[in-house]
Amino acid sequence: MKTIGLLGGMSWESTLSYYKAINEGVKQALGGLHSAKICLYSVDFHEIEKLQHKGCWKETAYILSRAAQSVQAGGADFLLICTNTMHKVAEEVQSAISIPLIHIADATAEKLISEGIRQVGLLGTKFTMTQDFFKTRLSKKYGINVVIPDNHEQEIIHQVIYKELCLGKISDSSRQAYLQIIDNLHLKGAESAILGCTEIALLVKQQHTRIPLYDTMKIHADKAVELAIK
Ligand code: GLU
Repeated sequence: MKTIGLLGGMSWESTLSYYKAINEGVKQALGGLHSAKICLYSVDFHEIEKLQHKGCWKETAYILSRAAQSVQAGGADFLLICTNTMHKVAEEVQSAISIPLIHIADATAEKLISEGIRQVGLLGTKFTMTQDFFKTRLSKKYGINVVIPDNHEQEIIHQVIYKELCLGKISDSSRQAYLQIIDNLHLKGAESAILGCTEIALLVKQQHTRIPLYDTMKIHADKAVELAIK
């Protein structure tokens, strides 16, 4: 079995989800007492979040690249950045290491294509919804059409992520707001919705809506399991 490298802590609430999903996946595949070989570097999210909102992406790239080098030195065979947003600096991180970085948008696109999805809504941080590193990768590389919420809805999603989900706070009113936004995306033509932030599935689950949801955390974790045991 290969060793999975994880860059976590962004936030640690979702790193827990990765840790659990990956171990459950390995257990399901191999049985018995099997568990995943994982090398995890967990950052202080306070530092990262401050830099994100100041637009200091070079500085975040430096922190994550150093962390990725530690993960590689710790014996990882490949690396996952356990957040959609920080894929903004995926190229810089990849260039700092020699093991492959498994991009969350690639894993997600492969899953969507395998299920015939061509037009999809995207929920995530404002960075993920509005900048190129995620949605343009889906459209240019895979031909998937991405529908995003309007400005007001983007603001709601973004605030809930940083002020609630990353702090472990789950609220019914925020869930209702998210479900309304998902419905609106459906009206705008999205066949399904990408939960493009690794904490969203803590709030909104498939049982809450008929619109198919694609949880990037779970898709990314499943990809890691597949690569580790192949
Ligand atoms: N985990 C989130 C994501 O998937 C947001 C936290 C972050 O800014 O990294 O985008």
